Amino acid sequence: MKKGLMIILDGLGDRPSPDLEGQTALEAADTPIMDKLVSKGSCGLVDPLYPGMPVDTHTGCAALMGVAREDVKRLARGSVEATGIGLEMEPGDVVLRGNFATFDSDAVSIIDRRAGRISEGVTRLCQDLEDIVLHDGVRASVFPATHHRVVLRLRGENLSSAITNTDPGCGRAGSLMLSSQALGLADEQAVKTAKALNEFSQKAMEILANHPVNLERVSNGELPANGLLFRGAGQAFNIRNMVSYNGLKAAVVTGERTVSGLGKLSGFTVIQQPGFTGMPDTDVTGKFSAAQQALESHDLVYVHIKAPDIFSHSMDAPGKKMFLEQVDRALSDIFEEDYVIAIGADHSTDSNTGQHCGDPVPALLYSMGSRVDGETVFGETACMRGGLGRITGNGLLITMLDTMGVIANYRPFDSIFLD
Ligand SMILES: [Zn+2]
Repeated sequence: MKKGLMIILDGLGDRPSPDLEGQTALEAADTPIMDKLVSKGSCGLVDPLYPGMPVDTHTGCAALMGVAREDVKRLARGSVEATGIGLEMEPGDVVLRGNFATFDSDAVSIIDRRAGRISEGVTRLCQDLEDIVLHDGVRASVFPATHHRVVLRLRGENLSSAITNTDPGCGRAGSLMLSSQALGLADEQAVKTAKALNEFSQKAMEILANHPVNLERVSNGELPANGLLFRGAGQAFNIRNMVSYNGLKAAVVTGERTVSGLGKLSGFTVIQQPGFTGMPDTDVTGKFSAAQQALESHDLVYVHIKAPDIFSHSMDAPGKKMFLEQVDRALSDIFEEDYVIAIGADHSTDSNTGQHCGDPVPALLYSMGSRVDGETVFGETACMRGGLGRITGNGLLITMLDTMGVIANYRPFDSIFLD
């Protein structure tokens, strides 16, 4: 069996940019190594979940990391984030992803969704938001994640994650916190949970209003973290992963909490170093070295690189192009090894709008001795013609595992993975 290396370039897929003479960042980038991998392998387009459907990082990465599509759809950001910070959870707990935010003096309008990206004092703020007793015996606790991000755990009887967000999203300043409601056909459990979340959001504001950390921030001219916004309610459940199902030992190299959470949920080794930041300053070379080292003791290793998505969100197509060139230079050593190499992405992000979009994602698959499709460059247009065709995120991984020789040597796939 061959070993596999999958590189996930977050938000890689894009649309043509006027700043790059009508090319996408990947097409405009000078990427001789990736082009060589395509020339000696094949390329194609990947729909992370369904054709045309824009998804988030946790959805797109989960599909590539082997989570069965049925489970990908149930996988909420809150559960992934909670696992990422190593939160202890009991069956029935509902967890949400949250942000400290700044509200105006009447505690109504949102001034900044991220409270000036607060990082210092977050642990102290969270300590005073632990084990808050709400109606119906529900208890709420907030735990710190990265910077302004937190995880809220609601614990009590008969709770449900079928509730809406209180976070209005990346709207303009001045928008309001939403009132959480039961999703779809309201059931009693969801109504109770939404009520608890709304009650906690108000209580948190009272606790935070005159908190010493906030008084200090205001006297320093910084935005106070005087409220919280929540989204992505989820519950703990056992996800079915086709990588672990096949008895493979896998690892993921990442600097991002969502992806490390997914790795932990899937039973993978999570490799993090201080230089792996999830930002454009991340140590790309260090990530590939860590992956090469991990391949000595693992069958399949993922490298996740967040920065292409960050550039697209900032509508900086030339920056994304330059970053992809940097990734390509860092790849040179890996090409020497006889691995099965896949390069793909969790989703496309349009540099013209700064938003995720439903366009399929360019991907390549290379293995010594595998079929060659005649394409010679790695880019969205070549991928439209490539031999991989148009497949799902799960499909790219299954194709990779088959190229590695896994499906022939290991247990056949159960019907759960073939919806
Ligand atoms: Zn994004």
